[in-house]
Amino acid sequence: MSPEPVCKGIPACSVCGEPAIIHQRHTGRYLCGTHLVTDIGNRVSDTIASQQQVISGDRVAVALSGGKDSTALLILLHRLFGSRNDIRLVAVTVDEGIYGYREATIRSAESLARRLNVEHISVSFGELFGDSLDTLLKGREQQACSICGILRKKALVVGAERAGATKLATGHNLDDEAQSVLMNVLRGDLFRLVRNSGTDSGGQFIPRIKPLMYVQEKEIASYLMILGIWEDLPECPYSIHALRREVRSILSGIEYRHPGTMLRLMENKKKVETAFSGKTIGEPVGRCQECGDPCNGRLCQCCQLRHSLGR
Ligand code: SF4
Ligand code: ZN
Repeated sequence: MSPEPVCKGIPACSVCGEPAIIHQRHTGRYLCGTHLVTDIGNRVSDTIASQQQVISGDRVAVALSGGKDSTALLILLHRLFGSRNDIRLVAVTVDEGIYGYREATIRSAESLARRLNVEHISVSFGELFGDSLDTLLKGREQQACSICGILRKKALVVGAERAGATKLATGHNLDDEAQSVLMNVLRGDLFRLVRNSGTDSGGQFIPRIKPLMYVQEKEIASYLMILGIWEDLPECPYSIHALRREVRSILSGIEYRHPGTMLRLMENKKKVETAFSGKTIGEPVGRCQECGDPCNGRLCQCCQLRHSLGR
């Protein structure tokens, strides 16, 4: 049952009775700003603890694009670990070289890292791959996100290695994760769901962690607005070509009409992971002959792509 509204038309927070700012449709709860901030902090802390994403002695590289997810991620991790001497945070920003988009987000990333007094490392596509994404993509704009995704993954790993990191945290939220499950099904690549990219990497690569994986995109936007650090930043001009954009629009409509759909997609992912646990599916068995990264075959995906781009 909905709580009694404290002001006409505004429902009350299910925890304290103050005016609510958000309706968590999948739990049925209404939350005020204070309790949304507490709820997100608790959820992130539980995700980290239950998956042992961060442990004493870790040096955590935080992928900081300067967009809203990575901004919230750095703030939340700083709140959890900023005063701990046994855990270090290092922000890593990748400059892909996307004119009219990345300048503003990079400024925002630099200013946040400075404000939180977190060490900040930047790597650029120009430095690693010889040119900006804009130049590398000429004539291949339709494939922008697949090309950018592979190169950016590599750039983040280089940044994390330079930072001496033991973990690499990314700002993927619940919407992103649920979209990925659906996209893998649509692409006929179900095994990708269970390929090892979690905290147990067998020492082959820096383990990736996703502390925001159970926080919805709209909750993150509200979180930043409540903290007074919401910035209306430009969107990547290439995102119009992305399959993800279509999946995002379909899924958010389904989530609205059937709350909890995204969490159920994540449950499915867990079931597939459990069913395949202990089995090796597509995990790298060798090393790339050019860069030494773990891969199957002679060259890793990034080196194959560099060759096809003539780099
Ligand atoms: Fe790269 Fe696509 Fe994201 Fe733009 S939208 S930053 S091209 S992955
Ligand atoms: Zn390689």
